[in-house]
Amino acid sequence: MQINNKKIAIIGGGPGGLTLARLLQLKGADVQVYERDINKDARVQGAPLDMHEASGMAALIKAGLLTEFKNNFMPGADKTLILNEQAKILYSDHEKNIEEDFGNEHFRPEIDRGVLRKILLSSLEPETVVWNSHFIAMEPHNEGWMLHFKDGLSVYTDLVIGSDGANSKIRPYLTDIRPFYSGVTMLEGNVYGAKKAVPHMHSLVNGGKIMAFGNKKNILMGQKAGGDLGFYVSFKADENWPNESNIDFSDRTKVLSWFKKEYSDWSDAWYELFENAATPFIPRQIYCAPLAQNWKTHQNLTIIGDAAHVMPPFAGEGANMAMLDALELSECLTSNEYSSLRDAISGYEIKMRVRAANAAKKSLENGEKMHSENALNTMLEFFNRQFSF
Ligand SMILES: Cc1cc2nc3c(=O)[nH]c(=O)nc-3n(C[C@H](O)[C@H](O)[C@H](O)COP(=O)(O)OP(=O)(O)OC[C@H]3O[C@@H](n4cnc5c(N)ncnc54)[C@H](O)[C@@H]3O)c2cc1C
Repeated sequence: MQINNKKIAIIGGGPGGLTLARLLQLKGADVQVYERDINKDARVQGAPLDMHEASGMAALIKAGLLTEFKNNFMPGADKTLILNEQAKILYSDHEKNIEEDFGNEHFRPEIDRGVLRKILLSSLEPETVVWNSHFIAMEPHNEGWMLHFKDGLSVYTDLVIGSDGANSKIRPYLTDIRPFYSGVTMLEGNVYGAKKAVPHMHSLVNGGKIMAFGNKKNILMGQKAGGDLGFYVSFKADENWPNESNIDFSDRTKVLSWFKKEYSDWSDAWYELFENAATPFIPRQIYCAPLAQNWKTHQNLTIIGDAAHVMPPFAGEGANMAMLDALELSECLTSNEYSSLRDAISGYEIKMRVRAANAAKKSLENGEKMHSENALNTMLEFFNRQFSF
């Protein structure tokens, strides 16, 4: 294999980077993950991830972590309600007996991001992750790269793999192509101890997730581990909305006033979310890498996951693609079929770009549907058709 006796640096310990580290270590590779979080206990934010059979689950199985996953996923968290803006339930699969059917492409088990990170971390050799390592720059050095971190540390490595997410600092070393703003912004809120804090929403969610649609806007909500609840208010807005709106995101009453104004025809049943959410709320502008992106393959540098192909979350593909990147890249790097490291990287990148572009296209299309005037009916039709078997 092309990585024998080579030092590999993975920048970023999200689902992509950690899965890659595990898969490479299983093949005996010398891997280090440099992660900017200060330690393994840093709170991982964001909604739970639904794992897809052919991508996220395939990578976990290859990583030998299926049993760990089965012991830690959130049964029932994939159950869905669709509501209108008055919080009236128009679709529910809670009564359907959806089997826990690992191996069935329609079964998409959900896992808390923090829990997934813990599973991946505990599968790695001790000291694999170097915490508090905020990558800032690198330059070619001998046959490899000299990496520089914010704390002043510099490290030599033979091969660099950027898995540092949507705002990747590694990506510019490969390409100038930048992700574009999709037109959608999501405001993230989290409610800790949801049963007590938001009893009405907690019983409505009932351990699953809610999608509510109205007037081109929506609210997406889901159960999180430890009895918490995460929600996203999702709407079309200018890219600079977080600054231009002048909202103080650490002030619940200001955010609620904004919601009352912007979601004026939504019922007050939603207000308890804003009144009890942890602060600050987090505005997230949703970006997408161009579908037709391309770059010249490098001999000792590549990118995976959001660093390579950030996409809107409306098809639930991002983390799944990141983990499939990890699987496919690990196979290329450890295969004996390639005559050089560059060829092995090229084998991964060519396939990855096509696959990611298809997933991104679907994600953009879903995003348009979910923020259209007819979003409620479109989503009801989709769910009734998709899950009528
Ligand atoms: C609202 C929302 C909902 C989503 N829902 C789903 C879903 O249901 N299913 C799904 O598959 N995907 C979903 N996604 C997408 C998913 O979150 C991402 O695609 C996925 O996290 C990408 O994984 P990654 O490992 O590439 O990057 P990330 O998860 O972003 O991880 C990058 C890591 O790199 C670290 N890092 C960043 N910069 C540096 C640096 N300079 N130096 C060192 N470390 C650095 C970060 O701290 C982080 O740990 C959703 C996204 C959003 C916004």
